[in-house]
Amino acid sequence: MTKYNSPAALLIDQFSRTITYLRLSLTDRCNLRCIYCMPRDDEDRDGQVKTGKFLNHSELLSYEELLHVVRLAVSQGMNKLRLTGGEPLVRRGILDFIQQLFLLEGLTEVRLTTNGVLLEEYAQRLFNAGIRQLNVSLDTLVPEKFTKITGKDRFSSVWDGLLEAKRLGFKIKVNVVAMKGVNDDEFINFARMAVEQPFQVRFIEFMPVGDKSTWQKDQFISSEEIKVLISEVGTLTPFRKSHGEGPARMYELQTPGGQKGSVGFISPISHHFCDQCNRLRLTSEGKLRACLLNDRETDLKILLRGGASDAELIAIIRQTIIDKPQGHALQKEFAVRERQTCSGQMSRIGG
Ligand code: SAM
Ligand code: SF4
Repeated sequence: MTKYNSPAALLIDQFSRTITYLRLSLTDRCNLRCIYCMPRDDEDRDGQVKTGKFLNHSELLSYEELLHVVRLAVSQGMNKLRLTGGEPLVRRGILDFIQQLFLLEGLTEVRLTTNGVLLEEYAQRLFNAGIRQLNVSLDTLVPEKFTKITGKDRFSSVWDGLLEAKRLGFKIKVNVVAMKGVNDDEFINFARMAVEQPFQVRFIEFMPVGDKSTWQKDQFISSEEIKVLISEVGTLTPFRKSHGEGPARMYELQTPGGQKGSVGFISPISHHFCDQCNRLRLTSEGKLRACLLNDRETDLKILLRGGASDAELIAIIRQTIIDKPQGHALQKEFAVRERQTCSGQMSRIGG
C-alpha cells in the first residue's frame, strides 16, 4: 500500500474553514422514490413506482477508486466520512468496503445515512464492520403516508430496522424533512419519539434541490415554526454547540413530567450554516463538489481513469477546497423564486 506523508497543513479554505469531512454518495440508486428527491418518471397503473434513470455501474466509481480517493483525502487531513446515496445499502459489497475504510490510518469516523429499508437485515453486519452511528431518514410515522411520500409500502421495514439498530446499541439520529401540509401534523409525535426512544430527532428544512424536485414554496416550514409547534411537548433548551453535531442546532426537550430527549434543527434556508461548513462531497458519478447547493464540480473519475498521479489528485482535492464557495444563495433565491436553485440531483450528490 502506498504511504503518504503527513499533511503539511490542514485543509483550510480561503474563508478559514477547516475541511475535515467527506461525504461519499455510493450510488444514485434507491429502493424508495421520495417525492422531494427522486424523479418519478415511470409509474405503473397501480401507483407502484418503477425504475427511473440511473447511472450504469461503470459510471460509478469502483470501491477501489473510492478507497483511493478517500486514502488521499485522509492523507491530507480529512478524518470523517459519511456514506450516503441514493441508498448506500443497495450497493453490493458495501460491508467489505466499510471494513477496508476502517483500515485507513487517520480516518476516525465512518457513519452512514440510510432510509432504513434494509437496516434490519444489515444492522448486525454494519455493527460488526465498525459502524456505530446511523442517520435514518423517516418523514412520517403513518404507514399510508410513508407510501405516499416514498412511493413504496415499506414503513414497517424501516421501523423494524430502527428497533434492531437500537437493540444493537447504535447511536441513532432520525432525520425528518419538514413539509407543510405533508407531515407538519406529526412534528409533535416526532418530538415525543425523541423523548420516548433513544433517538435524536432532527428536523430538516425542505430544500429546493434538483430539476425534478417537487419542492414548492408553500410547503416550506421554517425551524422556528417547528419549534413553536413542538413546544407543546415540552421546553426546549439549546445545548452548547458540541463537535460532531454538524449543521444541526441541538436542543434538549424536557416534558412537564421530567422526561428528556434531544431534538435538532437543520436550517439551510432560514439560518444557513455556511460559515461553519466543513464538508466536501464526492458524487456517485465521481465528481468532487464543495457545496451541496452549488453545481461547480471537478470530475475525479476522468482523472483517476486517465492515470492521474496521486500528487495531481491531491492538488485537485486541495484546489477544490480552496475554491469552496463562501455560501449559498438559497435565502435570496427563496425570496424571489418558486423552484430549485441547484440542478444536481440529491440522490447523486448524496444529500
Ligand atoms: N437514501 C438515504 C436516506 O434517505 O437517508 C441517503 C441519501 S438522502 C439523499 C440523504 C438525506 O437527504 C435524507 O435525510 C433526505 O431526507 C435528505 N433530503 C433529500 N432531499 C431533500 C430536500 N429536498 N430537502 C431536504 N432534505 C432532503
Ligand atoms: Fe432514496 Fe434517500 Fe432520496 Fe428518499 S431521500 S429517494 S430514500 S435517496
